[in-house]
Amino acid sequence: IIPPAAFLRLLSDRLAAPFWELLTQASAQAEQRGWHLYLVGGGVRDLLLAKQNGAAPLYLQDIDLVVDGFHRTADVGAGVELARALQQLYPAARLEIHGAFQTAALLWHKDPIFGSLWIDIATARTEFYPYPAANPEVEASSIRQDLYRRDFTINSLAVRLTPPRAGEMLDFFGGLLDLQAKQIRVLHANSFIEDPTRIYRAVRFAVRLEFAIEPQTENYIRYAIDSGVYKRTQGNNSRAPALQTRLKNELKYILQAPYWQAALSLLGDLDALQCLHETLKLDKTLWQQLRFLERCLRRFNRESRKSKVKSQNVPIPPWLLRLEVLIAYLAPEYRDRVAQNLQLPDDSIYRLRHLQQAQERVSTALPSCRLPSQVFDLLRQYDLPMLILIALRSPRPVRSLVWQYVTQWANVQPLLSGHDLKQLGYKPGPQYRQILDDLLAATLDGIIRDRTEAESYLFEHYPR
Ligand code: ATP
Repeated sequence: IIPPAAFLRLLSDRLAAPFWELLTQASAQAEQRGWHLYLVGGGVRDLLLAKQNGAAPLYLQDIDLVVDGFHRTADVGAGVELARALQQLYPAARLEIHGAFQTAALLWHKDPIFGSLWIDIATARTEFYPYPAANPEVEASSIRQDLYRRDFTINSLAVRLTPPRAGEMLDFFGGLLDLQAKQIRVLHANSFIEDPTRIYRAVRFAVRLEFAIEPQTENYIRYAIDSGVYKRTQGNNSRAPALQTRLKNELKYILQAPYWQAALSLLGDLDALQCLHETLKLDKTLWQQLRFLERCLRRFNRESRKSKVKSQNVPIPPWLLRLEVLIAYLAPEYRDRVAQNLQLPDDSIYRLRHLQQAQERVSTALPSCRLPSQVFDLLRQYDLPMLILIALRSPRPVRSLVWQYVTQWANVQPLLSGHDLKQLGYKPGPQYRQILDDLLAATLDGIIRDRTEAESYLFEHYPR
């Protein structure tokens, strides 16, 4: 147990100075109004986990604050009021209010002092007024309720910032012990049934912090999955869209993290990809496809650093492409629905809806292409992510041709432009398109190699 004064010192020592100053201001504002303020959630966890000696000061990106301890009905909007007061002191922050009275957020984006910072300020939700605020039991029960709604014990620690007892650690559920034991434990048996996205959060924290999922918690996960909890995220019930949004956010967190492969592997072991679709299994073939994608991404990253050619940039973020690979692994009839449920961007939904058709067309037509220009004609209608999806799902000969197209042929520049045609005396009109396409095909097929050859070809095939 850390004595309150020592914990305050720990906060002021480990936090970068502007963050400590901000918490001090927030707590002064709360105190002036007769409220209590707590730092809760991931911030407390990360502070306790931060290296003790010689470590760089901690820059938080998320700060969760909870206001509590008031006794007038009007104070139900305390979190919002506190956020407004803080914004007066920090005008560079943007204020966002969610729900009528519930939570407010202050946001800094690329700020010279705070970088990107998001502060959530919530109002502890129970027992607002019937008891005097000075009664510690009531205060405790109210913040306790707030903490009880959280996902894991290590995220349900709170530190009181306001006096009296500033620096006091509230640990109702054994979070400190679990931090020491390096384990992820839920607060109650129904946690994953209540909110299946916590399965993804458990995996994310376990892999990121290098913690184990506590065995009983793992049993709860398996039980939740066996009992078909994911159906709630997919069905037509009123909570499904909100759950899907949270599921997508968790998937995004996981798939964009440097540790995404370990996390995905753990999700696979827990059979948790069923939350996307009950038939989705992480088997050897799917891993191969994901690895192929990584090779593509690495290669395109290298290329796009070297060249400015637009077609060499993969126009969507890697996490989304990884997610598309997972969804594309489903039978075609399920893909569209899963992509729509997750509210993916329109072009992702479009790709997943048309992938089957595109793949069939490419695998039938590509083997009979004799010339690069024929390959070009066939593949130019698809965007780069679609071609990557097609390639990683195709047998080697098809894959190689698609690869050759995206890395070479798609970037071949025409030797003459519309402007050149005009200069050479061709009357502008619809035939320009055909001439330019024809010149490009001749370049691709090695018939013309430079400007002089292009002009001779032009005069021969399109007399002025
Ligand atoms: P990170 O460093 O990844 O942001 P975090 O703990 O701050 O970790 P957030 O996703 O920002 O995680 O959530 C903030 C807090 O809100 C968590 O610490 C947790 O207490 C609570 N929380 C978030 N999502 C859930 C959930 N699905 N169920 C219960 N509590 C949640």
